[in-house]
Amino acid sequence: MTEHPTAPLNHLTSALVKIMGVPEVTHELECLTCSARSGQNKELEPTRGWARRHSAGIPSHTTYREIVHRYWQASLLK
Ligand SMILES: [Zn+2]
Repeated sequence: MTEHPTAPLNHLTSALVKIMGVPEVTHELECLTCSARSGQNKELEPTRGWARRHSAGIPSHTTYREIVHRYWQASLLK
């Protein structure tokens, strides 16, 4: 994971709010063998379906990591 520089919290204070107009949460599964990803979906079941199809096509790929995406936006306070 890439680290990005951050300012001290007492120097640049920001509010962190949910981004409007995007799904509250999306789910994604990643194959731990080849890093293929299902793509994001508002529902978990379609991503599970992708994993079942992926394992059916490549039987040695049987483990997955779930990634839950939530979107936030920081606003600088004056
Ligand atoms: Zn795979």
